[in-house]
Amino acid sequence: MNNIYKLESNNNNFYIMRDDLLPFSFGGNKARKAELFFKDILNKKCNCVITYGSKSSNHCRIISNYCARYNLDCQIISPISEEQEDINNSYLVKLFGASVTTCEIEDVKNTIQNVISRKRQEGYNTYFIEGGGHGNIGTQAYVNAFYNILEFENENNIKFDYIFHASGTGTTQAGLIVGKYINNSRTNIIGISIARNIERGRKVIYDSVKSYMEENKIENDIGIEDINFIDKYIVGGYGKYNEEICENIKEILKKYGIPLDTTYTGKAFWGMKEYIKENKIMNKNILFIHTGGTPLFFDNIKEM
Ligand SMILES: *Cc1c(COP(=O)(O)O)cnc(C)c1O
Repeated sequence: MNNIYKLESNNNNFYIMRDDLLPFSFGGNKARKAELFFKDILNKKCNCVITYGSKSSNHCRIISNYCARYNLDCQIISPISEEQEDINNSYLVKLFGASVTTCEIEDVKNTIQNVISRKRQEGYNTYFIEGGGHGNIGTQAYVNAFYNILEFENENNIKFDYIFHASGTGTTQAGLIVGKYINNSRTNIIGISIARNIERGRKVIYDSVKSYMEENKIENDIGIEDINFIDKYIVGGYGKYNEEICENIKEILKKYGIPLDTTYTGKAFWGMKEYIKENKIMNKNILFIHTGGTPLFFDNIKEM
C-alpha cells in the first residue's frame, strides 16, 4: 500500500503519509492498530472488548465500530470531562452501540477491573485493549507502517531525513523506532508531543520499544536518549491549542485540501514547522505522517 504524497513546499522536499485515509471508520493510526487487534480478538474468539478513552478518542470510535461490525459486546470506560456535550467521536461510539461507563479520572483503573469482572461473570470471553491501542500489537502496526515507508523510499529512490508525527501514548512512535532499528535506517523520527512532557513521554516509548523487542527476541542497544520526543509545542496540555495552530490548519486546508485537527495533527504539523524553523532544516526530505482524527476536524470547524 502506498499512501505517501509529495506536497509542494519551499526549502525542503515535503511528503505526507495519509494514514487518515485508511479505509475503516475515518482512518487514522487507531485504524491501523485496531485492524491487528481485531485479528487477535477474532482468533481468540473473544466476544466482549473493553477499552478506555476520552470523548475525543479516535481509538474508542474505531474499536466500537469494529465491535459493531463483528457483533461483539463493546465496553468503553471514559473519564468524566468538563465538557458535558457529546462530540463527533462520542456520538459515533453511542451510535455503534457501545456501553459507556464514566468515572472520575483517578477511578479509571478500578472501573476497568470492575467492568472486566462483571463481564466475565456474565459469561463473556473478554479482551482488554489499553487506551489508544497501546501495547505490542499497536507497536506492530507502526513497524508495518515503517515497511510501507521503506517501500516508498525504494520505489522513488529517496531517503527521508526526517519523519514527523503527533505523539500521544507513544505507540506509533515506538513502532516507527523499531522499524527504523531493524532496517538500519538513518531517518530521524521526531514525535511532536500533543500532551505529555518529555520525561513521561520518552519513558513510555522506551518501555514500548523494549517490550516489543523482548517479545520478538530482537537484541538491541536502543537507549532512552535515542528517542526524539519533543514537548515544546504542547501549548498547555491535551486538547489545548493556540491561534497559530488554527491559522496553520486553515492554511493547510486551503493549500492542500488536507484536514488537520487542533488536538493531534494540527498541533503536530505546527510543531513540526516551528521545529524546522528553529533548527534551520533546509534541503531535506521530510515526511509528515497524518495520523487521522477527521471527526475532530469537523468538531473544530465550527470554531474556525
Ligand atoms: C492517538 C492519536 C495520535 C497519537 O498516537 P499514539 O500512538 O498514541 O502516540 C496521533 N494522532 C491522532 C489523530 C490520534 O488519534
